Amino acid sequence: MTTTFKANTRRDLPRIAEKLRLNRDQLTDMQAVSAVLPFRVNDYVIEHLIDPDSVPDDPIFQLTFPQRGMLEADDFRRMRDLVAKGAPESEIQLAADGIRGRLNPHPAGQMELNVPRLDGETVAGIQHKYQETVLFFPTQGQTCHAYCSYCFRWAQFVGNADLKFASREAEQLVSYVRENPQVSSVLITGGDPMVMKTPVLRRYIEPLLAARLSNLRSIRIGTKALAYWPYRFTEGEDADDFLRLIGEVKAAGKHFALMAHSSHSRELEPDVAQLAVKRILDAGAVIRCQAPLIRRVNDNANVWAQLWRKQEQLGMVPYYMFVERDTGARAYFEVPLSWAYKVFTEAYNQVSGLCRTVRGPSMSASPGKVLVDGITEIGGEKVFALKFLQGRDPSWVNKLFFAKYDPKAAWLSELRPAFGGEQFFFEDAMEAALAESC
Ligand SMILES: *Cc1c(COP(=O)(O)O)cnc(C)c1O
Ligand code: SF4
Repeated sequence: MTTTFKANTRRDLPRIAEKLRLNRDQLTDMQAVSAVLPFRVNDYVIEHLIDPDSVPDDPIFQLTFPQRGMLEADDFRRMRDLVAKGAPESEIQLAADGIRGRLNPHPAGQMELNVPRLDGETVAGIQHKYQETVLFFPTQGQTCHAYCSYCFRWAQFVGNADLKFASREAEQLVSYVRENPQVSSVLITGGDPMVMKTPVLRRYIEPLLAARLSNLRSIRIGTKALAYWPYRFTEGEDADDFLRLIGEVKAAGKHFALMAHSSHSRELEPDVAQLAVKRILDAGAVIRCQAPLIRRVNDNANVWAQLWRKQEQLGMVPYYMFVERDTGARAYFEVPLSWAYKVFTEAYNQVSGLCRTVRGPSMSASPGKVLVDGITEIGGEKVFALKFLQGRDPSWVNKLFFAKYDPKAAWLSELRPAFGGEQFFFEDAMEAALAESC
């Protein structure tokens, strides 16, 4: 294993199959599925996070490789026949395109609703949904060290290698934060912003510091690099330069948080991952951890309890458990809200108060981040107690509301108000917002 980054894709499958000790049938299956659902995975993930003896049930194998159950049985058979009979790649791709068109790579409403304006113009690369926090998508950071098999952001992964573009984007971000004094936090996201070399990251972060924005209190970077490529923080001059950049953010009087996408305690076991955590913390950042609850990956209370304890031990802060959203191979990964609540509660019950900074299970839905806060009975009716952790309208936050209990419901849109109510209190406002954006 070298620490040179290599992204393996579909054409590397024979080599991967050898490493993971897959048999011929398993290899053909993967060639068929991955023609439709592309994957990208590096050698570190294959060699240090996946246990070949547990494939295909291995959680990190499920997290990073497309699985046959993600396709409809007919689609899978058609693709598999093509691959097995050695059909030309053009024919395979044509069939794959047809199937891909029927999946849902773009979750509804997000893009149209949250694009902000600056001097009357819409600003690309910024999403502003919750009062205090602006999401920023640098063009250079729209890919990942490996792809998660439930995440269909790859549908929007389009790199732009032009660095002039970066400066222009950074300028707009600064103007936007300056003109919106209610914004206190910039969250740089992607893809994975940590695919960017530090000098490129600096092009985005330094202007934010130089502008001395008194309303800006924190800068965060959302990343899966701690799990998928910890060398980003440990190897060479570029890693050291990133740690210095953390120091510069701190010296400018801002909080710096790495928002680590942390799905399974396995990811935090390798020495290099622990070293990365230590270096980031020593540089003055806080690491807050969040991940969705995914069937076959981490749909088990003990897995979460172990994960939060590991985070506690390493000095990381458990932050959110998300419910998987409506995208891509949802049926394969979906966990009903009732089950998510049970997993969360049983894990929460067995950890120390230091881990109970975590909130969840939470749905990032169109009106806001909605917490499943309880399942209870009121006046003889079984209900979900729900609460906004974040709201498109800040006055919704921390307000309790109730939905009829439904053991199968897996998303806010599948819930109906309890006690015979016609609609939830936020629905009129949401309809108005949607109408306005058309
Ligand atoms: C989750 C999220 C944020 C950040 O929310 P916090 O609760 O501050 O972590 C910001 N914008 C959007 C659109 C989000 O989904
Ligand atoms: S690292 Fe994040 S953005 Fe990249 S594939 Fe995984 S969930 Fe999606």
